[in-house]
Amino acid sequence: TQPLDAVDQSLVDGVLARQLRPLAKTITLIESQREDHQARARSVLEALLPHTGGAMRVGISGVPGVGKSTFIEALGLYLIEQGLRVAVLAVDPSSSITGGSILGDKTRMERLSQNTAAFIRPSPSAGSLGGVAEKTRETMLACEAAGFDVIIIETVGVGQSETAVANMSDMFCLLQLPNAGDDLQGIKKGIMELADLVVVNKADIDLAATTRAQAQLKTALHMLRPVSPNWSPPVLTLSALRMEGVAEFWQTVCEYRDTMKRTGEFETKRRRQARAWMWELIDAGLRAHFRSHPRVRADLPALTEAVEEGGTTPSAAAQRLLRYLKDAV
Ligand code: GDP
Repeated sequence: TQPLDAVDQSLVDGVLARQLRPLAKTITLIESQREDHQARARSVLEALLPHTGGAMRVGISGVPGVGKSTFIEALGLYLIEQGLRVAVLAVDPSSSITGGSILGDKTRMERLSQNTAAFIRPSPSAGSLGGVAEKTRETMLACEAAGFDVIIIETVGVGQSETAVANMSDMFCLLQLPNAGDDLQGIKKGIMELADLVVVNKADIDLAATTRAQAQLKTALHMLRPVSPNWSPPVLTLSALRMEGVAEFWQTVCEYRDTMKRTGEFETKRRRQARAWMWELIDAGLRAHFRSHPRVRADLPALTEAVEEGGTTPSAAAQRLLRYLKDAV
């Protein structure tokens, strides 16, 4: 990474002094597609790195309409009451595909966004899910350097984004509706396996249905192999709208964190996540390097056609193209 110039040093100082404007500017650099911005973002992040890692990273997912933003606002306000500072980030790959965002923008959490102890940042729209996730992870580090105690990372219950968020959070929470038992949302899609905590929201609408869903979800979770040997994911019920059950939710998060820290799993998980993140970037870099290689670019169309038409085998074509990379080394 390049040495910091005066401008970037002032960004670093501002972030470390917990100022929101330098933080927002740093995130803008992180999210920029420009090469020079990317280089600056890397240097700034390197300087911030020793000051990161202090927050509890909580991932929250659920289908549109389950009450994520209502819940995050309630949780955020509760945490601020406890004297904590809260950053809310989002991973929404749909924003780059549809141009519109499933998660919407920050006006949804109006009360939370007006609070000076909260920082809400909508999803970056960086193209692929990998790109969005990478920028959100870096933004998370910047927020930690800015002293936020809790980072909430929100995502939608569609597609692969849940895995990406589970891979960047300490604890992954799945929000469900009171009819969860009927179609077992999330189980079919393999999302349940990722959950460290399941929450049935909108308990105020139908208490009987909520209790039934809670029991069914507990049974379903029992059948899955637990992610951790030291933790079986509990099922809580709450009403985000009435702000009921929020304290119990947070208490469970703290129990989880304490258990994970005591057993050493907390550290192990973060180390594994950091390693996986590096490899993801190496893979992406290699792929980009491969695709931009002049001989690959020259031969790829004809070879692709030959593979499609059975003129050559996929493995022979792949070998031939990959050899260009070896020759270049
Ligand atoms: P998101 O799409 O998951 O972010 O869901 P929203 O937070 O936007 O909520 C969707 C709708 O459900 C809104 O009309 C909320 O007011 C409503 N809602 C959220 N939580 C609750 C709840 O606990 N009880 C009830 N009755 N409605 C809720």
